[in-house]
Amino acid sequence: MHSFESHIRNVPDFPKAGIIFKDVSPLLQERFGEVIEAMSKTINWEEIDYVVGIESRGFILGAAMATLKGKGFIPVRKKGKLPPPVISESYALEYGTDTLEMLINRQPGRVVLVDDVLATGGTLKAVMNLCGRNNFEVKAMALLINLTFLNKFTEEGHPVHSVLNY
Ligand code: AMP
Repeated sequence: MHSFESHIRNVPDFPKAGIIFKDVSPLLQERFGEVIEAMSKTINWEEIDYVVGIESRGFILGAAMATLKGKGFIPVRKKGKLPPPVISESYALEYGTDTLEMLINRQPGRVVLVDDVLATGGTLKAVMNLCGRNNFEVKAMALLINLTFLNKFTEEGHPVHSVLNY
């Protein structure tokens, strides 16, 4: 397979105690084009109109995938970054809540969601809800890394495309 794993840094207790942070920066530095190709490979691009990138590593990966496949790019941002009119979705974190936003969309479109790491799935679920309320049909989700032991996305039948699974 790929030798991608050797370029991923496992950083213990970042950003807080108990989390092993998967730092993909060295991998992007050494193998960016191959990573983008690998993330794009299994998706049926004929049924996709736009790539939705999730702030902020989803911007790096999603924008490159959109360019490779000739699709438009839509950012999902943290609260307060996009000018109105926006649609918001809040979701529970371990402590408190977080809010993600995207511009209001009226024209129906089919999208693929892109982020670097799928962990508990809270972020992706929030973006799925956001898209559902905003005329976007989620056809696929593309991750560089799926921490499968932390979520049940595949078991629940979600169309998850991931390059590395732990
Ligand atoms: P979750 O909502 O729990 O699936 O977390 C997903 C979001 O948090 C993604 O945007 C990831 O970039 C980030 N994230 C969560 N866990 C990790 C981890 N172990 N290493 C790197 N990023 C992570």
